Amino acid sequence: MIGVLKSLATTMEHALKGETFTVEYPDVPPEVSPRFRGVHKFSQERCIWCRQCENVCPNDTIQIVTNEQRQGEQYNLHVGQCVYCRLCEEVCPVDAIILTQNFEFTGDTKDDLVYNMEQLKSVPWYNELDPLEAREPDRGSWVGEGEDEVDYQ
Ligand code: SF4
Ligand code: SF4
Repeated sequence: MIGVLKSLATTMEHALKGETFTVEYPDVPPEVSPRFRGVHKFSQERCIWCRQCENVCPNDTIQIVTNEQRQGEQYNLHVGQCVYCRLCEEVCPVDAIILTQNFEFTGDTKDDLVYNMEQLKSVPWYNELDPLEAREPDRGSWVGEGEDEVDYQ
């Protein structure tokens, strides 16, 4: 009983000070931590198809399809399986994968969240993401084009 009263007193103390820790989502978007790991974006333009992300992924979220010349043809994403460990981003030698801060996507089953590259282009929550706004990656290790030319798909 004393514990309950203490809890109520703490709650009242914060309420009277106007301190709240919840937001009225979705009207008010929550501020997520800079280290938050949301759905990742993939740059087909930047990718060198080394398949390291595919190999390091613990649960086959990423599937890289290459042709006989080992040139990249397809990038498949099983979003519903991802555990957001960020290993794919860390292992990528050219920062072709960035975990963004987006968490707003839904599906009834994991199968609803399986996409290939073409399908991803028409998924609003994926298409509208700007990974460069979502997080500041280590651009020092990037190769190739200028910032404006990077084609995140
Ligand atoms: S964050 Fe982890 S689980 Fe998700 S795709 Fe990358 S390696 Fe796989
Ligand atoms: S690790 Fe990076 S460069 Fe290699 S296949 Fe994956 S996204 Fe492409």
